[in-house]
Amino acid sequence: LESVAEKVEGGFLLNGFKRFISNGYSADMAVLFARTPVDGNSKALSAFVVEKGMKGFEVLRRLEPTASHDLVEFRLKDLKIPAQSLLGPLGEGFRVAMQTLELMRVSVGAAAVGMAHAALQEALAWAKSRVQFGKAVSEFQGVSFQLADAATETEAARALVYLAAIKKEGEAGDASIFSSMAKLFATEAAFRCIDRAVQIHGGMGVLRGSRVEQLYREIRPLRIYEGTSEIQRLVISRNLLKKTQRSKG
Ligand SMILES: Cc1cc2nc3c(=O)[nH]c(=O)nc-3n(C[C@H](O)[C@H](O)[C@H](O)COP(=O)(O)OP(=O)(O)OC[C@H]3O[C@@H](n4cnc5c(N)ncnc54)[C@H](O)[C@@H]3O)c2cc1C
Repeated sequence: LESVAEKVEGGFLLNGFKRFISNGYSADMAVLFARTPVDGNSKALSAFVVEKGMKGFEVLRRLEPTASHDLVEFRLKDLKIPAQSLLGPLGEGFRVAMQTLELMRVSVGAAAVGMAHAALQEALAWAKSRVQFGKAVSEFQGVSFQLADAATETEAARALVYLAAIKKEGEAGDASIFSSMAKLFATEAAFRCIDRAVQIHGGMGVLRGSRVEQLYREIRPLRIYEGTSEIQRLVISRNLLKKTQRSKG
C-alpha cells in the first residue's frame, strides 16, 4: 500500500494510486487507506472518507474482469481533505480494515454459496432432462455422484458461512479466523461445484450466455478479492499458531 496521507493545516493531503476499486465508477464516496507515519511506526495506516468530485480525486479508467463488475483505477493527486474525513483514530486504519474484511469475507462466502446453489439447480435440471444412450444422464453414476458432491459441499459451505456470521456478531474475538475459513472454503467449493455443473452440461456448458458459463466466469474473482485463498490460509494458520503459543505460555 503506497498511498500517503500527510497531515497539513486543517486536514490531510493525499497522494497515491489505487487499482481494483469495486463500485468505483458508480459510488459517490469511497473509503480509502493511506500510510500516515506516526511516532515510531512508519507503516501506520489510516482510513479516510473521500467524495467523488473533490479536486485531486480522479477515476483513471474502468477495468474489465472476467464477469461484469464495476471496477476502476483511481489516482489521488494532492487531494486535500478536511480533518473530519479521518475514519477512526489516526494510525488505526489497519484495525478498521481488518474489521471490515471480517464482515466482507463472510459476505463473499455467502455470495459463493448462492452461486454454488444456482449451479447445482442448473445441473440437476439439465441432468434429468438430457438423454444420452437411451437414458437421462442423471442415471449415470458418474454424473449423479458429482451432483451429490456438489450438494454436500454447498451445504458445508453454507453452514460455515452461518457459523462465521455468528462469530462476527459474538464477543469471543475469533471472527477473523472463522471469516477467513468461510471465505476460503465457500469460494473454493463453489468453484468446484460450478465446474461440475459446466461438466454435466457438456458442450452446452461452455456456450457464452448459458447460466453455468456465466457462473463459471463470475465465481473466479471471488477466490481473489477480499484476500486471495492463499492469504486466507495465511490468516488461518497464523491464528492457529498464535493460539497454540498462547496456550503453551
Ligand atoms: C474483481 C475485483 C474486485 C476488487 N475490488 C477491490 C476493492 O474494492 N478494493 C481493494 O482494495 N481491492 C480490490 N481488489 C483487489 C484484490 O483484493 C487483490 O487483487 C487481491 O487481494 C490480490 O492482490 P494482488 O492482485 O496484488 O495479488 P498479489 O498480492 O500480487 O498476489 C499474486 C499471487 O501471489 C499470492 N501471494 C501473495 N502474497 C502471498 C503470501 N504472503 N503467501 C502466499 N501467497 C501469496 C497470491 O495469493 C496470488 O496467488 C479487487 C480485485 C478484483 C479482481
